[in-house]
Amino acid sequence: MTIGGVITNPGNSLEYKTGDWKVLMPVINQEKCIRCRICWYVCPDSAILELDKPYTTKAKRVYKISYDVNYDFCKGCGMCAQECPVKAIDMVPVEVS
Ligand code: SF4
Ligand code: SF4
Repeated sequence: MTIGGVITNPGNSLEYKTGDWKVLMPVINQEKCIRCRICWYVCPDSAILELDKPYTTKAKRVYKISYDVNYDFCKGCGMCAQECPVKAIDMVPVEVS
């Protein structure tokens, strides 16, 4: 640590992957997701990604965006799954290799 805890390289928190101790991880079902953005709002770690990635459901509904999870920073708290209005997020055990 620097003297006085001075931060010499701002933005360095991105270098520390804080999501490696979770035991459950969220998995978004793109078929069920209605792109409401609630998970993006509620995630305390800004780990939900809003991607310019089109997706067409099996019922031919076309979305221009998709939501995904940045597992480097997701801590597995489950708030996204809890708040998703259509239960499109499953919390599944992290596989330890
Ligand atoms: S489980 Fe928690 S930290 Fe991970 S994406 Fe969902 S709300 Fe964010
Ligand atoms: S809260 Fe659920 S439905 Fe809304 S964007 Fe997130 S995964 Fe999709």
